[in-house]
Amino acid sequence: MPSSFEFTHGSIHVLGYSGAGQETWFVLPELNVGFDFGRAPRELLSIDHVFLSHGHTDHAAGVAYYFSQRMFVDNAPGHAYVPGPLVAPLENLLTLWGDIDGQIPPGHIHAVEPGTDVTVRRDLIVRPFEVCHACRSRRSRFQALGFSVIEVRRKLKDEYQGLHGPQIVELKNQGIDVTRRVELPLVTYCGDTGPGDFLSLDHVRKSKVLLLECTFVDPEHRERARAGNHIHVADLPDIYPKLDNERIVLTHLTRRTNLRDAKTALVEHLGEEALERVSFLGEHRRPRRRRPTAEQEPGDVDAP
Ligand SMILES: [Zn+2]
Repeated sequence: MPSSFEFTHGSIHVLGYSGAGQETWFVLPELNVGFDFGRAPRELLSIDHVFLSHGHTDHAAGVAYYFSQRMFVDNAPGHAYVPGPLVAPLENLLTLWGDIDGQIPPGHIHAVEPGTDVTVRRDLIVRPFEVCHACRSRRSRFQALGFSVIEVRRKLKDEYQGLHGPQIVELKNQGIDVTRRVELPLVTYCGDTGPGDFLSLDHVRKSKVLLLECTFVDPEHRERARAGNHIHVADLPDIYPKLDNERIVLTHLTRRTNLRDAKTALVEHLGEEALERVSFLGEHRRPRRRRPTAEQEPGDVDAP
């Protein structure tokens, strides 16, 4: 099993693993949101809302296992938010597992549309957006998405700043809306993608944390990156100036890429200063933890 990675940025806490062709999954435990299923690792089972970027096996294979394992640990059925064209195939998959296993794994599969927000909490939304990973598919309805997790706050409108509490209450009693909606993009996950216009979206480029794939670093793999709709480290000098993110974590490196070589290539293309806010996921190893005791089943999870 590949080891997973972990980092925090302010109050944002990210766990995950991402290797091209192996598996990719991320969880934001405090926000109860996950991205992609990988092979349904233990960390994903306590997450109620998981957003699937696209149907490639290394991102989607764990869907049925996620639902079935949640049932075994007595968690309520989870919610998978998937590109529209994948709803029917995934429902068929669960039905097939019912034929094999004797029980259809219980779960909710929702179609998501680019630009249509999903509310996961009163003050938290997830905004899907289209990325560039679909072009080579022979299936015409293949769709690949990224997701921004956005905190929604209400702030006092400028014209009411400086008023005292009773004055604000009085305005509210008159039916006046004294607040305005403010969006705070926290984490954006771009799934698998080549460079594209989505990187100019405000909620992407201003997200505090950006999880951006960078699959290839070898100079001889430029063409492979282009053909597979992936990002090559040599694409970053065009992309980087658009990004206002506080932290950019590069994901989805190929298995054969040595982390030290990847960092060297990153510095060659972006300069040493970029290391203050750009890193590879592989640099964020999780501290070793004790193995579960014999009384704990492997599927045991903490409450959400
Ligand atoms: Zn893919």
